[in-house]
Amino acid sequence: MNPVAVALDIGGTKIAAATVTADGVLGVRKRCPTPAGAGPEAILAVAAELVDEVARERDVVGVGVGSAGVIDPDTGSVVSATDALTGWAGTDLRGGLGRLLGRPVTVTNDVHTHALGEYRRGAARGRSTVLFVAVGTGVGASLLLEGRVHHGFRAVAGHAGHVPVPAAAGRLCPCGAEGHVEAVASGPALLEEYRERSGAWDLGLAEFVEASERGDPVAEAVLAEGGRALGEALAGVANVVAPEVVVVGGGVAESGERWWSALREGTERGLVPALRGLTPVPSDLGADAALLGAGHMAWREHG
Ligand SMILES: [Zn+2]
Repeated sequence: MNPVAVALDIGGTKIAAATVTADGVLGVRKRCPTPAGAGPEAILAVAAELVDEVARERDVVGVGVGSAGVIDPDTGSVVSATDALTGWAGTDLRGGLGRLLGRPVTVTNDVHTHALGEYRRGAARGRSTVLFVAVGTGVGASLLLEGRVHHGFRAVAGHAGHVPVPAAAGRLCPCGAEGHVEAVASGPALLEEYRERSGAWDLGLAEFVEASERGDPVAEAVLAEGGRALGEALAGVANVVAPEVVVVGGGVAESGERWWSALREGTERGLVPALRGLTPVPSDLGADAALLGAGHMAWREHG
């Protein structure tokens, strides 16, 4: 059988693994819950087990990993992470997995692997400069230059949620600053705003999206304001880096046409004339993108 790369996607709630061919086709897949509270060694052990399960007797060129947190691409360790994964910051991801697996390992952040997947086979296919944005619990992004991740100083590039926008003035962002777009455009921010305006304190995100689909004017207004604010922030980033394509994925990007039209409107309003018409497009591959991107990275580094 032909050799494969193995892709790993390590998130706060689940870990997924898959084989990826040189042509970028996903094969055998497995997933399991992340032992998020059990510490990094437990997480690495589960991840290594999944790799062995999907790889079985195959000839494996290398392992590509997309993980939650800011990852230093040179050392392969976790620079910082949210509390979702206990003790994750400081973990030697590449070294730890490499020792458990006895195979070459390449790691980066999971938004970057998602972007690479869209570049390999999805909505950003064949585009040399790509801005990928993931909107869910937070707002993260990845910038690809000539098909490669731009990690930037301290590997911090891509924090598109922390661009100031007028709609977020005075709002506290999870990063500690005030006025960043994440404070009005992330899933939790949208939900909180809806709860405040409607008084429906026990509502979840799915019910909030349902309410907007039913034509609930408060839900529609909150989604539109969040989408528009994000569009303005993306336009600001796009004006600086001039991407050929802006791809938007993540849970909030599935909240329907009302949100998308506001996003497009906000973007169009903020772009410089030379970039007008650079409309954000949805991610093509969904959850597969992160695995495809991690596999692509492993092939490029070790194939
Ligand atoms: Zn912030």
